[in-house]
Amino acid sequence: MKPIQLIAFDVDGTLVEHPEKLVVWQLMNRRYLGSLEVSDQRYRDFMAGKFDYERWVDLDVSDWMSRGATRAEMAEEVKALELIGGAHETLAVLKERGYKLAVISGTLDLVIEEFFPEHPFEEIFTNKLHFDEAGKLVGAKATNYDMEGKAHALEELAQRFSLSLEECAFVGDHANDVAVAQAAGFSVAFNPKTPRLEEVADHVIRADSLAPVAELFPGSHLCPRKE
Ligand SMILES: [Mg+2]
Repeated sequence: MKPIQLIAFDVDGTLVEHPEKLVVWQLMNRRYLGSLEVSDQRYRDFMAGKFDYERWVDLDVSDWMSRGATRAEMAEEVKALELIGGAHETLAVLKERGYKLAVISGTLDLVIEEFFPEHPFEEIFTNKLHFDEAGKLVGAKATNYDMEGKAHALEELAQRFSLSLEECAFVGDHANDVAVAQAAGFSVAFNPKTPRLEEVADHVIRADSLAPVAELFPGSHLCPRKE
């Protein structure tokens, strides 16, 4: 096993969480559509293959735009999310130990901007919102890297930094992290929401703080600790 050089993180459930376990898409849909009904139906339709991911993003974002969504409003809404305990400290420690850090997530870039203004990440693969000069939402670019695509994002990261996948780790919590956890040289299931992720992960952590993740990565010249 080669020492890990890069650690990629999921966001919802891994770096931030919501008291009612909602993700940022649901928060925005609830704000701009008044309930989660449409949101839940779109999720079911997407899972049933009725439309692709890009279309799903477009449906939601178009609705927010038609209701005049602004960056300020959306940033306010994002505050309903909470940082996972010790997230900033853990990322800082890992960075200090020489690891490259990245995000591979189906969240909105706004969440990263609001919660991690110190920019600890070398690379962020996520959905990007576009605002005009007045702060009005005018569009979005859907990520190609959610679900199965998360594994491709890790491949791209590895290539960009001339690393092998073996030298890249991933930390995530849910079903959309299974493929990338399998692709990574070392993977951590953080408060896993599905037994499938536990099965494929090299290490499982159940904690209300991200701090135990730092214990697994003692420094980029050393191998991570297996269970
Ligand atoms: Mg997640």
